[in-house]
Amino acid sequence: LNNRFLEEQALPAITLDGEHISLLLNAGLELNTQQNSAHICDGVGLYRTEAWFMQKGQFPSQQEQENWYREVLSSYYPNPVVMRTLDIGGDKVLDYFNITEENPFLGWRGIRISLDHPELFLDQLKAMLKANIGLGNLKIMLPMISGTDEVEESLALFNQAYYELSEAFPEQLIERPDIGIMLEVPSSVFMLPEWSRKVDFCSVGSNDLTQYLLAVDRANARVADLFNPYHPAVLRVLNNIASECEHYELPFSLCGELGGDPEGAILLIAMGYRRLSMNLSSLNKVKWVLRRLNVSDMEQLLSECLAQPNAKQVLRLTRSFMIEHQ
Ligand code: PEP
Ligand code: MG
Repeated sequence: LNNRFLEEQALPAITLDGEHISLLLNAGLELNTQQNSAHICDGVGLYRTEAWFMQKGQFPSQQEQENWYREVLSSYYPNPVVMRTLDIGGDKVLDYFNITEENPFLGWRGIRISLDHPELFLDQLKAMLKANIGLGNLKIMLPMISGTDEVEESLALFNQAYYELSEAFPEQLIERPDIGIMLEVPSSVFMLPEWSRKVDFCSVGSNDLTQYLLAVDRANARVADLFNPYHPAVLRVLNNIASECEHYELPFSLCGELGGDPEGAILLIAMGYRRLSMNLSSLNKVKWVLRRLNVSDMEQLLSECLAQPNAKQVLRLTRSFMIEHQ
């Protein structure tokens, strides 16, 4: 079966009824994927910068970061690369940055750390902006946003980074990249009417969104069977996000693991998602599956799934749909 997926890897990701789906890569965890994966995706929908920080013995300097980001941006050029600012805390720790908490997933994580350490955040933003000079395929994404103040403070620091750089390098044309937020804290889902006017795009982090909606630690084996993004409540939230983003004309995508499951991808496409970011190992499989399906059939399936009582029933319906249609 894997060979079959590979045979179609160079073909476009288009459904039977002609909808083009952008398939993007989640990168950063495997440090060297970019060399051989650029040609099979439409760009990078999530570049996890913290993975590289985790390999280091101390915070990398701005220059070191710039070199690294430039290598990543060039590998995928001219396709876009969505670089996420440092998302440490929770399960992701740096040996050289001590965080001791009783409840790390509800603690000092993601953007909270960046805003408490503006010197680190500014360094990272400046390194990204400089790496983008002459390329222009950078987009910046902010993790774990839960309130308007975080959006505004982040944008203010971004402006500071931009103006300081423009002043320091007057001969260079520093571009202003699109800035987006992750939707992964439940509160963020309800703020789209306001935030859609402040940011350029959003991307759903279904891993954390599932964890926080269901109050199930994504890393705790004891409750692993409760961690399920096919829970109808999660699906309804994902569906609402798509409708809200369409209504407010905010470009949206999804970059959690759900988009890399063929079953998840089908349901998301039915909801209106047209940009899905996933691990390299999922890309060809998802492409193969969606090329054999009509969006109108997926929509029919979705309406049935949204009315199911639990994840098990949703998956049963979705799997039999896939068997029936290919
Ligand atoms: C997510 O939470 O869904 C996500 C994509 O980010 P991470 O898995 O890195 O927390
Ligand atoms: Mg996350």
